[in-house]
Amino acid sequence: MSILVLKFGGTSVGSVDLIKSAAQIIKKEYESGYDIAVVVSAMSGTTNKLIENINLINSQDDAEYDAILASGEQVTSGLLALALKEININARSWLGWQLPIVTSGNHRHSLISKIENKNILDGFLNRQVAVVAGFQGVGSNGRITTIGRGGSDNTAVFLASALNAERCDIYTDVDGVYTTDPRMVDNVKRLDKVSYEEMIEMASQGAKVLQTSSVESAIKHNVKIQVRSSFDPDNMGTLISEDVLNNENQAVTGVAYSKDEAKVTIIGLVDKPGIAATIFNSLSVKSINVDMIVQNNFIEREETNLTFTVPVTDLKQSLQVLEELKSIIVFEKVISEDNLSKVSIIGAGMRNQPGIAAKMFDCLSKNNINIEVISTSEIKISVLIDMAKTEVAVKSLHQIFELDKL
Ligand code: ASP
Ligand code: MG
Repeated sequence: MSILVLKFGGTSVGSVDLIKSAAQIIKKEYESGYDIAVVVSAMSGTTNKLIENINLINSQDDAEYDAILASGEQVTSGLLALALKEININARSWLGWQLPIVTSGNHRHSLISKIENKNILDGFLNRQVAVVAGFQGVGSNGRITTIGRGGSDNTAVFLASALNAERCDIYTDVDGVYTTDPRMVDNVKRLDKVSYEEMIEMASQGAKVLQTSSVESAIKHNVKIQVRSSFDPDNMGTLISEDVLNNENQAVTGVAYSKDEAKVTIIGLVDKPGIAATIFNSLSVKSINVDMIVQNNFIEREETNLTFTVPVTDLKQSLQVLEELKSIIVFEKVISEDNLSKVSIIGAGMRNQPGIAAKMFDCLSKNNINIEVISTSEIKISVLIDMAKTEVAVKSLHQIFELDKL
């Protein structure tokens, strides 16, 4: 029999009534003949509340942090199994350590290495729905682990692969992936299909529909993801898969933005091999995620200016790292700026259409928006701009690339 994995995010299981609605969605798929494994998040707000409580205690222990955070998903899995039984569907909850979902790496950011499918497949023989707690696993030392905020998406994709499921349906509070953020722009269009690559760019560029690493897992395991709304379950939402034919004639399929970017410029940096490596190594050791990087060297002097961006929350630490490097690397000074945002246009069709960058920059200049840094990939162009101009930039790019007409 065919297997489906259905994942319900925090806002889709945010109350007992919503959990009962989720049970009805599951029932429909179940009665059409599928064997079903469900992955659940914690009820919305729960994980944050648990973190607040942890922060009230001064001692830190990542293993206990995981033990505490994993409780959110445990509650939802039990409640949903009960709600399914209430409507006469055979169901049971499964925690990470019970299946088990084996993880490697450090607490708080563990990686799933294997999901044992035997218990779930045995249950399917009795038409039992498996309700699996997302976000958690068990480490090699037997302790409970978690896999990073938003990690239930990844649990679902991994489980779909372990069960060889036909599809992985991610139920959330939006009914798919849009051409841009619907809260910012009025005439957005829902995309029926998005390629994995486009989705990764959109997710990491601030379109917060899916956790980026879950899309990376989907590519690796070739899992088709359908993003759907639990508030409009008859709607098929957006399919995320390898097939991009749908969008081939369209150069740009989305505009994404992320606020809270900070820019750091090292002025008068000595220009010789190994300097950039030293700087970026020192930042990565502190888990600082550098995004855009630009270097301008002066031909007549053995000096360069090096600019890079980091999340604003990492700015202070980045400056500290550079201060510490002062004893081993020669530079004149460091300047930094926050209140910046990154706006990106994304589209797999960009690969074979020239002039897209020019059109983007022209549109921004007509709106009097200054570009501070530019970075590109094959299917994306990003610019760093004044945060106050984010909305104007997103709206005008959405319009100039005719995304409202998709
Ligand atoms: N409950 C966890 C979080 O809020 C995991 C998830 O919802 O995916 O990050
Ligand atoms: Mg989520």
